[in-house]
Amino acid sequence: MVMALPAQAQVSRPVARPWGLPWAAVPGPAVGAPRIIGGTGAGCVVGAERLADEGPGWQAVRVSRNRHWGHPDLVRAVQGLAARATAAGLQALLVGDMGQPRGGPLPYGHASHQAGLDVDIWLDVTPRRGLAVAQRESIDVPSVVLPGGDAVDPARWRPGHARLVQLAAETPGVDRVLVNAAIKQELCRAQPGAAWLRRVRPWWGHDEHLHLRLRCPAGQGECVDIAPPPPGDGCDATLAWWFSAEARAPAPRAPRPPQPPRLPAACAAVLRGG
Ligand SMILES: [Zn+2]
Repeated sequence: MVMALPAQAQVSRPVARPWGLPWAAVPGPAVGAPRIIGGTGAGCVVGAERLADEGPGWQAVRVSRNRHWGHPDLVRAVQGLAARATAAGLQALLVGDMGQPRGGPLPYGHASHQAGLDVDIWLDVTPRRGLAVAQRESIDVPSVVLPGGDAVDPARWRPGHARLVQLAAETPGVDRVLVNAAIKQELCRAQPGAAWLRRVRPWWGHDEHLHLRLRCPAGQGECVDIAPPPPGDGCDATLAWWFSAEARAPAPRAPRPPQPPRLPAACAAVLRGG
């Protein structure tokens, strides 16, 4: 499950998953009561809502991608996180990709983000208030992790980064927050045993953004969750593995090219608009 391409690759927008093109081409949501069908890696959504380009405490980035759609609970979650971050003295959130208007597979950039429950928030604490939408098309933020991946970069890591990850992990309805293993390691060092750390899980990349995923909202019987994080703060052998020779070794053979997800049958009608 590759979550994001390097920034440079995102700019040129390679089509890694051509089966996502019809989903990306649909300009607006399927009209109806909010309904999630399937899960983050193979799913779609009816009644998605679009996050405004900016609001109190947030600025959406790369809005030309038309990927700021999600279940209404996700939009509320981003707005709530923005409000709590503002109250904590943090800068306006830079909100990256959410999902496409009807969810579904994306032709480039993520294998997940399909069911209207995922959002990428940039790990940025620099004051950037009032950026024009056009400026937000081209900005980038640097990694907060050292090139070797062993630790956060002390020249870039700030208390505000830790606070942002914590606030994200305390979002009501959150399933988990994905960050680079070096970030999780730093949070474990600073706040061992904190209950919210359970929901902060290490993943490849995610060294300049965090990925927040919500659990299936109540009453969404067709929505499929992934297994919840195991009990405990996760500052354990499961984290240590990410720094092991096994985790660092290059893949023994070329990885399999991406395969189309098995979408639930009902998603075909969602794509058509029903
Ligand atoms: Zn993501």
